[in-house]
Amino acid sequence: MRKLLSVLLVIVMLAGTSVTVGAAYDFSLSQSFLNDETFLLGDVNGDGSVNAVDSYSIRTTLAGIATDAIDLDAADFDADGKCAAPDSYSLKLCLSGARSTADFENGKQIYKLTVGGNDIKDFSIVLNEGITDEDNSYLAALLLKKYLKELTGAELPICYGTPVSERAIYINELDLFSEEGQKYGVEGLRYEVKNGDLYIIGTLRGTMYSVYEILERYLGVRFVSNEATFVYKNRVVDIPEGTAEEIHPKVTFRVARHTFGERGALNHYLANKLNGDYISSYDSKRYGTLTGPIYSNAHSFYEYWKMGNGTYPENTEGMTEVQMLEAKFASGDYPDAYGWQPCATDGNVYKKLFTGMLECNRMGMLWGNTPFIDEGVTLFSFSILDNQHYCTCRNCTKISRNEGFSGLYLQLYNKAAVDVQEYYPGVRLMGIIYAKDYPKTIVPDENLVLLYCGVSCDNHILGMEECYEKGGQLNGMKNDSDIEALNFWGDLCVENDAELWFWIYPVTYHYYLCGCPNIPNLYYSTKYLIDECNVTGLFYEGGGRTYNFETLKAYVSAQLMWKTDMTYDEYCDMVKEYLYINYGDGYEELFEYIMMQTEAGDRCGTCFINNYDRPGDMYSYEYLAENYEEMRGLLEAALAKAGTPEQRGRIETLLVCCDFMALSSLHTDWYVNGNNVELYCERYDWMLEYIWSHDMVTFSDQPLYPVPDKIDYETNPMVQFYENGSRRPGVTP
Ligand SMILES: [Zn+2]
Ligand SMILES: [Zn+2]
Repeated sequence: MRKLLSVLLVIVMLAGTSVTVGAAYDFSLSQSFLNDETFLLGDVNGDGSVNAVDSYSIRTTLAGIATDAIDLDAADFDADGKCAAPDSYSLKLCLSGARSTADFENGKQIYKLTVGGNDIKDFSIVLNEGITDEDNSYLAALLLKKYLKELTGAELPICYGTPVSERAIYINELDLFSEEGQKYGVEGLRYEVKNGDLYIIGTLRGTMYSVYEILERYLGVRFVSNEATFVYKNRVVDIPEGTAEEIHPKVTFRVARHTFGERGALNHYLANKLNGDYISSYDSKRYGTLTGPIYSNAHSFYEYWKMGNGTYPENTEGMTEVQMLEAKFASGDYPDAYGWQPCATDGNVYKKLFTGMLECNRMGMLWGNTPFIDEGVTLFSFSILDNQHYCTCRNCTKISRNEGFSGLYLQLYNKAAVDVQEYYPGVRLMGIIYAKDYPKTIVPDENLVLLYCGVSCDNHILGMEECYEKGGQLNGMKNDSDIEALNFWGDLCVENDAELWFWIYPVTYHYYLCGCPNIPNLYYSTKYLIDECNVTGLFYEGGGRTYNFETLKAYVSAQLMWKTDMTYDEYCDMVKEYLYINYGDGYEELFEYIMMQTEAGDRCGTCFINNYDRPGDMYSYEYLAENYEEMRGLLEAALAKAGTPEQRGRIETLLVCCDFMALSSLHTDWYVNGNNVELYCERYDWMLEYIWSHDMVTFSDQPLYPVPDKIDYETNPMVQFYENGSRRPGVTP
């Protein structure tokens, strides 16, 4: 679906070869801590200052006659987890000037942390005997040590076998292939507090994930980006005796791409339990391994065909194996990425693809992309190109007539999935499905992962009747055929021990001023895929710019892939929390704004597809025109509440996008018909000046629609910025 994808991935792969596997852990990435002022000690009524009213509030609370609830964190001077007479006395001392509230603080986000009631200072972190810095539990220990120091100031020793202190956090990395290890699999986890000690259990990734889970759930940490980590302030935290959490992720392949930080990176990617992609330098046991194909990701026939058609040099004397493979690859020609698919029944074609697969993947391994085939996390891609020009030769037609094009290529995938076992026992192949048809008799091999790509309509939630009643998007497609196919494939994969993964496209691909209004959709569609279609892998396609909540979408999507039982209310709370962290105190206004954007999208009266369709067709112009002042007012209110220059910048960018959409909707009324010329020009000037002065990029593929270089009131902004790409006839009211 996404053009250029396979090409880009190959380039990244090649570039990635210089990264040394086994380098020291990279804790040097600049990571700033956004320490939240969740409460102010002594400000028990939360009015922003510490004064006599707070003292009164505590006294009335203690006397049982208070009318308003107080902030217990702010009242807890002695950090015993409750508000009592000594706290009231301490506050009085502060108000009289005898003491200062600073005397009761230690400058840390968690003043007091206990595990099972025991002070964290009395603990050591205990790894199994024999664990080395090549094992993931060692990283888990380092992470825990680092964050505990940052959050509480406590410096815990790391030791092996037996604790060097009274209390212990045992990090028990099990052998994946042991009987108990098999219960947890690659990334299942358990942590529990028993007899005052904390036990963390997992195999390859489970102990690392446990640490991130504990940081999020108990210690108030949010891994919002690779550069910034947000931390709430807590007076007292206890991970209580009897705590017992066990997690076995339902979605086993999780990717949420965006332009915020390197894949594999500790502060965002791994912290949000993203585990998938093609295999990179982070695919070592110390980082817990990744799940995905080892060489090429999607559309691998593109490279396999080139390799399969290449020839080894005549004289290979003195050449290493990898040099020979590289020379063979270089000598072959790429096929036409967007106009060709291989014949699915010709034995010679198959031979080239299959050989190409073995050789390309071998080459990848020699570059240092570590195979974890035995562990079941490494796959080989074996997959069609990025187009729907399927083979229609006699033999292929014989099959596709009954089995559809998906069945035609499924039988090709199956053959390779069986044949490859001779070379790499246990390896699984991953193949893409674009066709909306499905086979009558052909079923997937147990070593196959099918990756179904995209849906036909991005405006309507999966399974929503409304989509079937509308006319369909640009190409007339709607979701009904996807729903049927996805349900079919989901059942078929379960019956045959294969897996169904899904490539989801909520990203705003091209027209950066017109964010795809699909934040609630993302929740419902993801849930539908997991709960109704047995999807066990999700590839969230991100990219483009950070304008218009694109990073928010990728973040909440990553969270949802891990916490698949999240309710819609919890999802909305998470959206608001992200807004709070990134945009400041106006998060409620921004949430309201998102809901209005969504409504404008719903009312556009049609289906659309966000990576191809026209931006002018993703919103109801009527709705935007009618509600412009209210929507703009919400953004202005949020702007006034923003606390940092970064937050203000993000909201100003939203304002630019809001103005662009609304002025496009109001151009005729306000400017052409002269009903509000002055305000039109004022807003237009501000918008364009801002775009110029901040070097905003308004379209993906230049030079198609460059940023306008002059003020032009006469032309509708949508047309001025995006010319013919702006709208299609007869759609949006
Ligand atoms: Zn054919
Ligand atoms: Zn639709």
